[in-house]
Amino acid sequence: RSVAIVLGTRPELVKLTDLVRLLGPAAHLVHTGQHYDEELSGRFLSELGLPEPTFLTGVGGRPRAVQISAALGQLDELFTAEPPLAVVVQGDTNAALAGALAANARRIPLLHVEAGLRSHDRNMPEEHNRVLIDHIADVLCAATPENRANLLAEGVDVARIAVTGNTVVEAVHGQLPGARERAALLARHGLADGGYVLATVHRPENTDSAEALRAVLTELAALAADLPVVLPLHPRTRARIEAAGLDDLLAPLTVSAPVGYGEFLALARHAALLVSDSGGIQEECTVLGRPLIVVRRSTERPEAMGDFAELVEPGPEIGQAARRRLAEGPEGLARLATLPSPFGDGRASERIVTLLTAAVAPQLLAAAA
Ligand code: UDP
Repeated sequence: RSVAIVLGTRPELVKLTDLVRLLGPAAHLVHTGQHYDEELSGRFLSELGLPEPTFLTGVGGRPRAVQISAALGQLDELFTAEPPLAVVVQGDTNAALAGALAANARRIPLLHVEAGLRSHDRNMPEEHNRVLIDHIADVLCAATPENRANLLAEGVDVARIAVTGNTVVEAVHGQLPGARERAALLARHGLADGGYVLATVHRPENTDSAEALRAVLTELAALAADLPVVLPLHPRTRARIEAAGLDDLLAPLTVSAPVGYGEFLALARHAALLVSDSGGIQEECTVLGRPLIVVRRSTERPEAMGDFAELVEPGPEIGQAARRRLAEGPEGLARLATLPSPFGDGRASERIVTLLTAAVAPQLLAAAA
């Protein structure tokens, strides 16, 4: 019998890689297909060396309730045919919520990686997913003491919570290409170390409103007058830009398709500044020692704010904050490089395996052997 790891998006693949490796043959990956295309998932499975998952069908590209219910029905069938020892989910996606509900319905022990994040922003579907998962999980792996405090404030039993650190730290350490490879990559892109901005935009709050999307792209285009702005474009954002007729704003930017994880980390490691609405990049910037402008209304990762990151709304504040950070120059970057990441020491996955083993199953060891 195995441990079912239910996931469906790019950041889950990244953040569960080390855990899957440590579990070895005991890990059974179930991919809901929430993001399933080659750019966002297929290449990540092979790049990260993950085993072939069982794929669910009819989930990707559907409305949220349909994604959850379609995945839930198929997971229940899978878990009935082959009951896992435990179910592991990560983060706050629809895939993670479906995995959690399926485990709960079959009374299978549920472990939540990255528990206790809270934006307190009830407009974000992810906030609802997180709260629901945390309240039904048996083992909650909080990345930071702040995450643990969020859970305690909601009355979650202290005995269910452990502070493990965030698995993204070991993902960055494991996947960042070596210095020579990074130098070759920069040369290939025609970029100078510390001489460009790396940006990503994909959250609905920035893409689904043409006004917000125009504001973000206008600021990036203005920054591109001073230094190259590299934008690996998420397929959803590309579609919205075309629909809103904003293509012209891309002209000054260095636009590409989404890049693989190692390449993204390498580009981020040598950027003068990151601009993004991503959750994971708020953590990665602290491991890579790079400043980040977070283009969002709210964040569930306040630990990154201050030295590493700052939160701004779409609009002129982006350019103002970016120029302030860029003005700190190489000294600013050197200072960040000396600061520890608030997200852990790179051993979260090891701690999670220990918790999983202790909490759910001595059989786990037998299955892994
Ligand atoms: N990422 C990547 N290639 C790209 C853009 C991002 O590998 O072209 C990685 C990034 O480093 C982070 C993850 O994808 O680990 C973030 O995924 P996303 O922004 O889709 O989700 P979020 O973090 O907001 O949940």
